[in-house]
Amino acid sequence: MSIAQEPTTILVTGATSGIGKAIALGFAKNNLSIAINGFGKDEEIASVLAELKANGAKEAIHIPSDMSVTADIERLIKTTQEKLGSLDVLINNAGIQYTANVEDFPAEKWDQIISINLSSAFHTTRLALPLMKERNFGRIINIASVHGLVASVQKAAYVAAKHGIIGLTKVVALECAQQNITANSVCPGWVLTPLVEAQVDAIAAKDGISHDQAVEKLLSEKQPSLRFVALDELAALCLFLASSSAASITGASMPIDGGWTAR
Ligand code: NAD
Repeated sequence: MSIAQEPTTILVTGATSGIGKAIALGFAKNNLSIAINGFGKDEEIASVLAELKANGAKEAIHIPSDMSVTADIERLIKTTQEKLGSLDVLINNAGIQYTANVEDFPAEKWDQIISINLSSAFHTTRLALPLMKERNFGRIINIASVHGLVASVQKAAYVAAKHGIIGLTKVVALECAQQNITANSVCPGWVLTPLVEAQVDAIAAKDGISHDQAVEKLLSEKQPSLRFVALDELAALCLFLASSSAASITGASMPIDGGWTAR
């Protein structure tokens, strides 16, 4: 899919791995200038930037920043604007997971998840909106989760943060409805990334079963398609939401979950 004339610059948070990296690659193929952040060894980050360039990115830069630190986020947006010249598409993707029953949930893990998975999107959005309004164009895509729509046990902070980001998205959509700036939430089911590999490993260890059996168990409990959502499917959805064809889609929460939330 081509995304016509509008967006030329994009920031994807948490794009050194998994879903964020796949989304950045999707936009690279459409020749955008791309800023990313996310953790990783120097050589891993260099390899992601090289892959973005090899796939067509006009520019690809990494801006070191911890999404739990407000001053870092302020520097992230400022540097993106300075280095790329504008910020047309903002993808709030960085996120972490931690599982425990509510009464055992460490308070510091709660704070960390709310800060990285929810508050960071508030900060990037409040700082990006003036830049988007200047150009009368913007696309904000928040990578929420099925857990923004429904709950699962042992994920109190994650489910609260993801429900919260869907609420934030709707407010931004309303406030920007007449300014050619859209805000939408993407709600993936299970996608095989390091974040989910850790959960597969935990099932395998707890139940004394193989990796493949643990994958089967994980999928069969929630995802009727019985297969992981593919990374390029997520990239394609984000490309569509950034395109001119999606100009009237705003405030939406879009499941991409193999039927998880249809049950
Ligand atoms: P991942 O662990 O592969 O990638 C997470 C990325 O976020 C990495 O680049 C990491 O460096 C970055 N990150 C983490 N903490 C950060 C911080 N404090 N500051 C800056 N960067 C930070 O995970 P993923 O599965 O690709 O998840 C990406 C997003 O998709 C998350 O918001 C997650 O909640 C969401 N999601 C994932 C799934 C899934 O099944 N994998 C399903 C639904 C939603």
